[in-house]
Amino acid sequence: MNTAHDLGRKVAAHAMSDEGMRRAVVAGVDTIEHGLGGSEATFRMMASKGVAYVPTLTQVEYYGIYFDHYVPGKTPPTAEMIDSERAFRLARSVGVTIASGSDVGVYPHGENGRELIEMVRYGMPAPDALIAATATDAAVLGEGERLGRIRPGFLADLAAVTGDPTVDIAAVRKVVFVMKDGQVAVTP
Ligand SMILES: [Zn+2]
Repeated sequence: MNTAHDLGRKVAAHAMSDEGMRRAVVAGVDTIEHGLGGSEATFRMMASKGVAYVPTLTQVEYYGIYFDHYVPGKTPPTAEMIDSERAFRLARSVGVTIASGSDVGVYPHGENGRELIEMVRYGMPAPDALIAATATDAAVLGEGERLGRIRPGFLADLAAVTGDPTVDIAAVRKVVFVMKDGQVAVTP
């Protein structure tokens, strides 16, 4: 941990159980991924130490599809999905910084936008979900001075969607324009 931080690197811990999360936080990690089992005490410690939570809600849903016969919209949520919703709501209620990461690769690339939709479904206002996936993610990665906002001097990484994602978060999946480092990558 100290060596990583001495080198200016961030440390992420993919932890599921409360004890695993607690040990990682005490050890000094910067983020906790998954965190399904997090207790109120652990989330409060994360809030006080500035450790961000990356809830990976979509990953949990896909594990249900792959391993527990979960069918979205047809079968009830799996035990892990119930745990992840509980953890997400609890973390928000005690003021943990929420970042948005997907663990994509567990499920197909290109489906990442689903994570924001899940965050809103579990009670986060759409503008907050957008901030989690942009400005907060940039800050959590130590890149808050050049990524995650539209500002003079920041990298020209932009995406445009059809619709207003601050009203209907599902619009994040309707990408019609992408600019990366000032170069147009996708255009209508
Ligand atoms: Zn993971």
